[in-house]
This record gives sequence, C-alpha cells and structure tokens, in this order.
Amino acid sequence: MTKYIAKIGLEMHCEVSETNTKVFSAAENSYSEKPNTNVRPLDMAFPGTLPVVNKEAVRLALMASMILNCSQPEYMYFERKNYYYPDLPKGFQLTQETKPIPVGIYGKVEYECDGQLKTVRVNNLHLEEDAASLDHFYDTSNIDYNRAGVPLLELVTEPDIHTAKEAVAFLEHMRSVYQYAGISEADSKKGQIRCDVNVSIMEEGLDEFDPKNWGTKIEIKNVNSFGGVRDAINYEIERQIELKETNEYDKIEQQTRRWDEESGTTIFMRSKVDAIDYKYFVEPNIPKFKISPKWLEEIRASIPELAMDRKNKYIEGYGLSSYDAGVLVKEKAISDYYEECVKVGIDAKVAANWVTVNIVGELNKEEISINEFYLTPAMLKQITDALASGVLSSKQAKEVFTKALEDKKEPKNYISKENAQISDEALLTNIIVEILDNSSEQIAQYKGGRDNIFDYFVGQVMKNTRGKANPVMTKEILHKELDKR
Ligand code: ADP
Ligand code: MG
Repeated sequence: MTKYIAKIGLEMHCEVSETNTKVFSAAENSYSEKPNTNVRPLDMAFPGTLPVVNKEAVRLALMASMILNCSQPEYMYFERKNYYYPDLPKGFQLTQETKPIPVGIYGKVEYECDGQLKTVRVNNLHLEEDAASLDHFYDTSNIDYNRAGVPLLELVTEPDIHTAKEAVAFLEHMRSVYQYAGISEADSKKGQIRCDVNVSIMEEGLDEFDPKNWGTKIEIKNVNSFGGVRDAINYEIERQIELKETNEYDKIEQQTRRWDEESGTTIFMRSKVDAIDYKYFVEPNIPKFKISPKWLEEIRASIPELAMDRKNKYIEGYGLSSYDAGVLVKEKAISDYYEECVKVGIDAKVAANWVTVNIVGELNKEEISINEFYLTPAMLKQITDALASGVLSSKQAKEVFTKALEDKKEPKNYISKENAQISDEALLTNIIVEILDNSSEQIAQYKGGRDNIFDYFVGQVMKNTRGKANPVMTKEILHKELDKR
C-alpha cells in the first residue's frame, strides 16, 4: 500500500491585545464581556470618519516580524479587502496584501515537538483589523462592535508541518512568543487566536519541497481552539487518504471547508472556482509611511526575553531538568511567578519543585490561572523556609500548603513550634535509646536477620513523638544505635 505524508500550512490569526487602543481608532482595546462598550464611530463605519494608524500596533507587529526572522518593509501601507458581511460595516477590511511586502516576509520559526527541534518557514506576517462579532440567539443575532478594529496579526506559514501534533506544538510555541514578547495575551478562551488550516497529502519519498509533488490543498476555515486544529487535521488526513485509495483524490478541486465541532467532521463550503475576488486596493486615507532603520533597531533592541531564553537560563543557570524548565516556561504567567519565587529567596530547585508539582497541580484541579492563585511567592517562602530549617517535615509542609489554600490564610498561621518536626539530634537520640532499652526481644530478632523489624522501631519513635520525629534523622540514629548493641 502506498504511504502518504501530510503537508500542512497554517494561517494563524492572533489579536494584538497589548495596545491601549484599536489599530485605526481611539476606542479602547480591551476585552469586554459587555457588548458595544469599546466603540468609536469609525468602528461602526460612520460616514466621514477616518482611520489613524496606531504606532504601538505597528511597533509590536514589527517586533513579531523580527522574532519570526522575517524581513521588514521599508514602507508600510494598508489595503482594502472588499467583501460584505454584517460584522464588517465598512464593506472592506483594512489589511495588507502580501505583495510587495507586508509587516514581515520570508522568515522561519524553530519550535520543539516531542523534544525534537522543527523548522517552519514563514511566508508572511501581516497586520490587519479584526471584524465585529455576531452573537446568535434563538430568533435574533446581535452585532458586537467591541472586536471591530482590534489589531490582528496574521501569520501565514509554508506547508512545512506534517502532523496534527506538530501543528499544535507550533501554535503553542507562537502563543508563547506573543505572550513573552508582550504582544498579546493570546488567549483562545477570549477568541484571540483563530486559525485557518490547509491540508494536503502526497506520496512519501518524493521531494516534499517541490510544489509539483504536492496534493490539492484543502482549506479549513476558522478553527478556534488548538483541540479543534488537532481534530480537524486528523480528520482531514484520513478523509484524503480514503479519497486516494478510492481513486477520487486526483479529481478533487481546491476547496474551502469548515470544521464542525459537533460532528467532528469538515464540511464543504466552496470550491476555488467560486473563490471570492476581494479587489484589493491601497487604502487612500492612510498615506504610505517610511519605517526608519533607526526605529527598527530600537524595536530589535527591546525584544524581551522569550520562553526559550528563560528555559536555557533555568537549565544552565539553575540546574533544572529540561522537562521541569519546559513546564515552567510554557505559560509566561507561571514563569513570572517562578522567577518571583527565586527573587524572594526560595532555592531555585526547591521553587521549581513546588511550582511544577504542587502549584500547577492545584491550578489544574481548580481550573484557575496562576493570577487567581492565593499563595504569593512570599507566602510560599514561609513554607519552604520552615521546611529547610526542619520546623516542618515535607508531609507537614504539604498539609500547611493545602490548609492555607483552603482557608485563604497565610501559611505562617499553621507553622508553630509546638507542631514542629523534631530534628534535635540529642533529643531524638534520647528517645531512641530509651525505646531500644525496652526492646531486647525485637533487637534480638533484628540481629537475627529479620530486617522488617526495623519499621517497628521507626513506628515506636513516631508513636512516642506523635509523628513529629524527623523521619530521615530517626532512621539514621536508629541504625547507629542498633549497630552499637
Ligand atoms: P491562497 O492563494 O489560496 O491563499 P497560498 O498559496 O497563499 O494560497 O497559501 C495559503 C496557505 O495554504 C499557506 O499557509 C500555505 O502554506 C498553504 N498551502 C499552500 N499549498 C498547500 C498544499 N498543497 N498543502 C497544504 N497547504 C498548502
Ligand atoms: Mg487575513
């Protein structure tokens, strides 16, 4: 049977959420649950309103372009992409055609998938405005203009991705880039990330970089979650292989489909023959403007530390495992929390352990973000300090952690000298000697080779100290004292 490989190209849209205002109007650029609160006349296409380019949006777009290793333009301008839809009151979207050059062109991105480094070529990156959104109710639909004019970055890759897993890893990488660079929260739950997914299959073994060998591209529009991207790709690859096997594949035309979450299938929308002609032309109300090399240099110098940089720092500087470092940098907010832990003086490895195990576990369990997490790094330090000085055993430390979260009270309230762990060597030795003095029978059994009797002695010490004896020290002293007898 012939083997196939998939060629996948992504068009990833990500809202630029970190500007104060929208890309061409002075309306606030902030996510709002309440419809039509962040709106200016321009966003509703009132006659006589004119667009003004938001410099900060252009700056962030250029920064993204640099991070993607793209070339930047000498001049910027915007184009009208003409079509009608109720969420587009102007009858056109202001965007950038790919020729001659949008905010970025011909770059490449390296990302990790299953511990392997992969490369995706970037065809282009362009800056555009988001459309309004439609909320559908039982018998009416409402238009919400909050989203109209929010700056949107569209990243178009070459079809260098081969599996659903790689596609998701790439998207996660890009989400992290946008977050770390301070470009966007890149939150799918707020609808900030949306993808069009292009899939074709070709015979394995042929040169995959020669477009002649590529199959017919199927575009799946508007997939809104990473899970959706994964499922849509897997579904589409299987569908196409089936078409190959029934000799139907070569008859299909380039087409646009949509992902239907409910049925878990892609559904035909239109074929290339009825592709829309958008009649692009340059927006006459925005003069073409020059991007100075000096400004570009300033932008390049201001690119913040990205996830990969932090990951390397954690591995090389703090001695963390690559796995732990990966967990820590996956979400910028978690990495920020971790860095704060180190800053307040928690040992880097100890902090990594608490964050990756207990805290991430708690966030998943409660389905909350780190910003909603009660314990601050300073509060966590109360626990780790008590643990380091032997006041708490590791079991007690976890109990204090849970208790503090349950009651929303600082951990120090649960750390007291009375319930402190006993780590005093002289005191423990006294207790142990007394127990051994009264256990001649058990000592004889121990000496006779019955190893598990050792646990009996540990149990006696714990009973005697109501569980507060430092377990590591207890075992050490027990061994020492037993050897003496
Ligand atoms: P269009 O002109 O239809 O917009 P483009 O050539 O600009 O198509 O490509 C749009 C997207 O489709 C890009 O992400 C590109 O990588 C992807 N693509 C192009 N050809 C293929 C193919 N044969 N298989 C999968 N993806 C493809
Ligand atoms: Mg677009």
